[in-house]
Amino acid sequence: QESLLHVENLVVDFKTYGGRVAALRGVGFDVAPGEVLAIVGESGSGKSVTCQAMMGLLPVPPGRVVGGRAVFQGADLLQLRPHELSALRGRDISMIFQDPLTSLNPTMTIGDQIAEVLVKHRKLSKKSALAETIEILRLVQIPEAERRLSQFPHEFSGGMRQRIMIAIALACRPKLLIADEPTTALDVTIQGQILELLKNLKRDMGMAIILITHDLGVVAQIADRVAVMYAGQIVETGGVFEIFKSPRHPYTVGLKSAIPNPSLFGSHELVSIPGSPPDLFSPPSGCGFAARCLVAMEVCGSYPPPVIQTPSGYARCWLHHSYAPADLAREVAIE
Ligand code: SF4
Ligand code: MG
Repeated sequence: QESLLHVENLVVDFKTYGGRVAALRGVGFDVAPGEVLAIVGESGSGKSVTCQAMMGLLPVPPGRVVGGRAVFQGADLLQLRPHELSALRGRDISMIFQDPLTSLNPTMTIGDQIAEVLVKHRKLSKKSALAETIEILRLVQIPEAERRLSQFPHEFSGGMRQRIMIAIALACRPKLLIADEPTTALDVTIQGQILELLKNLKRDMGMAIILITHDLGVVAQIADRVAVMYAGQIVETGGVFEIFKSPRHPYTVGLKSAIPNPSLFGSHELVSIPGSPPDLFSPPSGCGFAARCLVAMEVCGSYPPPVIQTPSGYARCWLHHSYAPADLAREVAIE
């Protein structure tokens, strides 16, 4: 199947007083139409930076796209002019973030905020925009949509505000929705409802979703495919079933064993692997995970790990290379 989005060798750095920090070190992935890709990793691993770089939303400076491609429907997003990219945002690609309150305009009714998007991007008249707004509010299951049109953001609960953000994101029927930790600020029950809503919308509207999260419970609930990020790279990617059933990279193995039962919904923060990520002022010449890896070999500290193909993706690790002793790989692979 043809990719909706093809990202290749994305390299980003940040200029700081201490020097240049390598934030993304060759990130690549594909998103097929209608698919949910979860990008999972600890904070600082580069999940948000990946999407900001693609969408022209990196703070520049200090951020800088050094290289790579992000081809969406045939056009490289990294080569578009600012006005072309901003036209695309909200029309073909929409985004939602963790904190809806900071993204909503506090002085405008939610009806006007949604209608504004419809008038701007879909060139609807004010009257038909209003009718459509009610439809969209029903779609995201906001009760009494007609009455609530004239209310302001502060009159809604956190979960309802996230539904409004989703309504705004959906107003233009995007082909891709980027959701950056959309449920992190919500309690577990509401979180489940929002994920369920996203899942239904994905099914009914056929849009693809990139979901950024640090929570494997969220991944298990909604993802079709998973990309695990560590220190500015994707260290493993594959189908959600394979990632949970037989993870290949020791970091993924660690994430998985750090949670009691990945199929049970709940909040599982990725903090239980001892040690910390490498210093990206001077990225390691070998594997970035070597200092924390229980099965690190001599080669791991000196040479960048090879990309090893797996049945539904790849892992970036020496363990599955013919160089590694076979019994070691068997020991780590969880069947
Ligand atoms: Fe561990 Fe070596 Fe694989 Fe890195 S390359 S994760 S150090 S086994
Ligand atoms: Mg982030």
